[in-house]
This record gives sequence, structure tokens and C-alpha cells, in this order.
Amino acid sequence: MSKNSNQDSHDTLDVKNLYDVIIIGSGPAGYTAGVYSSRAKLKTLIISGSLPGGQLMTTSEVENYPGFPNGIFGPELMMNMRQQAERFGTTIIDDEVLKVDFKKYPFIISTHSESYEGKAVLLCTGASPRKLGIFGEQDFAGRGVSYCATCDGPFFKGEEIAVIGGGDTAIEEATFLTKFGKSVKIIHRRDFLRASKILQEKAFENSKIQFIWNHVVIKISGNKKIESIDIKDISTGKSQNLAVGGLFVAIGHEPNTSIFKDHLELDERGYVVLKENTRTSVEGVFAAGDVHDYRYRQAITAAGFGCMAALDVEKWLSEKKFRK
Ligand code: NAP
Repeated sequence: MSKNSNQDSHDTLDVKNLYDVIIIGSGPAGYTAGVYSSRAKLKTLIISGSLPGGQLMTTSEVENYPGFPNGIFGPELMMNMRQQAERFGTTIIDDEVLKVDFKKYPFIISTHSESYEGKAVLLCTGASPRKLGIFGEQDFAGRGVSYCATCDGPFFKGEEIAVIGGGDTAIEEATFLTKFGKSVKIIHRRDFLRASKILQEKAFENSKIQFIWNHVVIKISGNKKIESIDIKDISTGKSQNLAVGGLFVAIGHEPNTSIFKDHLELDERGYVVLKENTRTSVEGVFAAGDVHDYRYRQAITAAGFGCMAALDVEKWLSEKKFRK
């Protein structure tokens, strides 16, 4: 017997608002899941969130998504994915989910204007890079300030690059960026790293990497593109200006899971915990992409997870008996 058959059922809101699967989020995971589930003849709804298309809508060229030998612009890639999901019958609503109810069954998903019911729900809300929150950061995002070395590194050939952070991501990204930059300065607010020893050793041995300890960035300046940053020594309070052509902020990510808090299991950092394949702690609720994956965080891996989750949803729905 399905666990859900023990849950409260409720009168269907409106049959037009009842879906086999509701996908929350519209990055590569959400759209790919939409393609797979609507193509499998499941009545599929994607609720896109406040930034339809997700993080890739704010990147320029994507060079590492297979199938595009000359690269493709992030917004174009996402528009293609959206059209592909719609082609097979996915309904896409550009609205933000404010509330979920996983205790009722079918599950209830509410936006600003409407409530929808899903026999299965797939969480694809992704994660957002943590921001420094300093002057110039927003203005120069995409114009020298980046949150993803794998995505943007090759655009910084021959530049002086700064990387902020002292964790695995910062060290890994700095090492990767030495392939492109003239030099890479890691600016960290402490005098030691929290990154794993093996990554640290590699970075210390890399002659292109220099460390600036006990410093924080306080200002980003430039014209059309970033030109320099002001950094401050936190022990002396003294500041200095550094010429840079690129600034990579690698101070962690925050999963977009605040609306799921108290509704399913999240780990201590707020990422969705997967129990088996793409299943979450609530039977019938699945997750795909950066909302659970803090390690890979690539468009292609998110798309892959979206595919896997849609297949898991399809199998789960076909194995269950549902009450109306
Ligand atoms: P993280 O481990 O949380 O490290 C974030 C770094 O940014 C820390 O050094 C932190 O400083 C610094 N920081 C945070 N807020 C800051 C601010 N406002 N200003 C300046 N610095 C700030 O994040 P992560 O490196 O992205 O790693 C996330 C998780 O993914 C970790 O579990 C990591 O092990 C894993 N990961 C693993 C690999 C791998 O195994 N190859 C690669 C990447 C990530 P403090 O040290 O002072 O707190």
C-alpha cells in the first residue's frame, strides 16, 4: 500500500488543475524533466519560478553543453529546452510557487494566483551562488564578475584573475583558471583554507596562483568591464586597489529550498536529501539538479538528473494506485 494512501486526501480543486506531475523550476533539470514526462504522456505542468530558464539566463555563451560545437548563448539554450518541453504537451506557467502541501494527496502547489494538484511533484528549483553583497557586484555580473569558472573561465584568457573564497570550490576553480589567466590571486578572509588538503597542495604548488590572506573585497570598479577591485586587510583595516580583468566569487551556493523547509528532509546546508535515486523523504516527491546536487552543478548534469527524475516519476506513477 502506498504511503500516500494513508495521507489525507481532499476534494479535487478543479480537474483542469490536476496534473500527473508538477515540476517546480525551469532550469535544465526542470525543462528536461518536462520533455521526458510529457513525451511519456504524463499530464505535466512546469511552474517556472521568478527567473524562467534559471541561472543560464544570466550567463553569456555556453561552450560545454554537448551538441553545440560552436557554443550557444545561455538564454537561447533555455528557450530551446522550453520549446522542446512544450512540443510534447508540457504546460508552462511563469509564476512563483509560494506554498507546498505534501501532507494532502494529491499534493497541492500554490502560486501567487492559483493552486494546482500533482499526483507527483518534482523539485527542480536549483541553487543560487552566494553573493558578496558589495558595491559593483551586481553591475559587473556577466561583465567580469562570474560565479562559475567552468562556465566562464575560457573568456578570461591572458587576464589577471581574482578568486574569492577558501573552500574546495574556490581552490578548484582557481586551479582551473590558471589554464586561462595570466595569474590567479586567491583572496581569502582567513589565513588558512578550509579546502581539502589535496586541493590545497595542488594550489600551493601552482606557480600561477598567489594567495592574499586575511583580505576581503570591498568594491568592484570598471567601465564597460571590470577593471579593478578594492581589497581590505581585516587585521590592519588598510585597503589597496588591485587591477583585475576577472573576479570569480566562490563563496558557496545556497539551494533554493526555503519553501520546502518543514515539508521534507533537507540537509544541514538546506539541500534536498535524496533517499533512493531521485526520491526525496516524501513518497511521490522527487528532486533533480542543483537543489540536491552541490557537487557537480553543471547544466548538463542538471539536465541528466531531470531525465532520471522524470523516468523515476513515470515508474512510480505506473506502480501506484490512486484515489481520486
Ligand atoms: P564552502 O565550503 O562553504 O566554502 C566557502 C568559502 O567561502 C569559505 O572559505 C568561506 O570562508 C568563504 N566565504 C563565505 N562567505 C564569504 C564572504 N561573504 N566573503 C568572503 N568569503 C566568504 O563552499 P564550496 O567551496 O562551494 O563547497 C561547498 C561544498 O561542495 C563543500 O562541501 C565542498 O567540500 C564541496 N565541493 C567539493 C569539491 C570536490 O570534492 N572536488 C569541489 C567543490 C565543492 P570561511 O572559510 O572563512 O568560512
